[in-house]
Amino acid sequence: MEQFYGINPEWIREYARLIVRTGVNVQKGQEVVLNCPVEHYEFARLVIEEAYAAGAGEVILRWSDTVENRLYYQNVLEERMKEVPEWKAESVNSYARRGACWISIGGTDPEGLKGVDPKKIHIRSQAMDAALEEHYKLMMASINPWTVAAVPQKQWAKKVFPDLSEKEAMKALWEKILKTVRIGEGDAVERWAEHDRFLKEKCRFMNENAFTKLHYQNSLGTDFTVGLVKGHIWEGGSEKAGSGVIFEANMPTEEIFTMPDNRVAEGKLVSALPLSYRGNLIRNFSFTFRNGEVIDYSAEEGYETLKSIVEGDEGSRRLGEVAIVPYSSPISMMKLLFYNTLFDENASCHFALGECYPTTVEGGADMTEEELKAAGGNSSMNHVDFMVGTADLVITGIKEDGTEVVIVENGDWAV
Ligand code: ZN
Ligand code: ZN
Repeated sequence: MEQFYGINPEWIREYARLIVRTGVNVQKGQEVVLNCPVEHYEFARLVIEEAYAAGAGEVILRWSDTVENRLYYQNVLEERMKEVPEWKAESVNSYARRGACWISIGGTDPEGLKGVDPKKIHIRSQAMDAALEEHYKLMMASINPWTVAAVPQKQWAKKVFPDLSEKEAMKALWEKILKTVRIGEGDAVERWAEHDRFLKEKCRFMNENAFTKLHYQNSLGTDFTVGLVKGHIWEGGSEKAGSGVIFEANMPTEEIFTMPDNRVAEGKLVSALPLSYRGNLIRNFSFTFRNGEVIDYSAEEGYETLKSIVEGDEGSRRLGEVAIVPYSSPISMMKLLFYNTLFDENASCHFALGECYPTTVEGGADMTEEELKAAGGNSSMNHVDFMVGTADLVITGIKEDGTEVVIVENGDWAV
């Protein structure tokens, strides 16, 4: 397999199997929707083979292509972008309703959409988000099992390893990715189970302490306090779907995360890593919050893109996720910018502006949007992660009675 650049083909197959078995945990007769960029057709075939081997009833393949996407934005009128025909929405929502699981393979040119007016991307994604709301709601509430994984793509590999030839860069990125998903060092499924136990242990500690606020501080200028909603739940690693099936939504994953109170955020948060958003890079940015809302923001590079995120909708100015990732996590130790949130968010403590995860508060999955909002959850069409963790980050947990506990020190778990 030329496409795999001399990487042991057994490892590539093991990765496909891991996505199917540990990722979405395909059940007998289940429908599997596979979203995949066209350049990864060889890997897609392996995933399909493994899905049928696991008993999939049918694999529904949905190709995407960044080049086609770019041409779309360059040529289609804005008015038309707002229209999503019913059949198109139904072709996704119907599978969600029927209990399908979703595999999304990432790995595209990080600059594939560079130069495209962010406003156009916003218009289209808003229209798509609204049309596919049923699917996204079921996904965010973990009713349907879903997983996101990625495989190397040429422009992406060259972006991560600019000094290597294209072939060497592809090989290097394959090696890094396989390492992040724990392939090549014994039974990957077993290693994931072990890692999952570690994340669950940290969740247990945080849940038992039930902090009402977290205070963040580092030398970059972050001095920030965020509230956590009453009854918040720290989650990390595997999740349980509506059917009771255990799945892993992100491969890799190093984070534990919960629901911030969208009304309680004060102070300044400074980015620790650049943010690659829909093909555009945002560097050295910061947000100032008051009463939970972003009241000011700046960026040395990519200000317009940052603006399109913050001004997306009402909920885009408030937080929907707070996540802890140790600075010594394997991805962080690679000291590599992947230009891809799936990897970069697992290198650092982060927050997300926008939509919250309903499952991160007691009873949240059954709450209406209004109830969730009243509980302090955030509602938005967007969910954008940005990284704030540094080697000198200190996070102090504050309990209802004022007791303080240092939970992260020098960027790592202190407990
Ligand atoms: Zn996260
Ligand atoms: Zn997130």
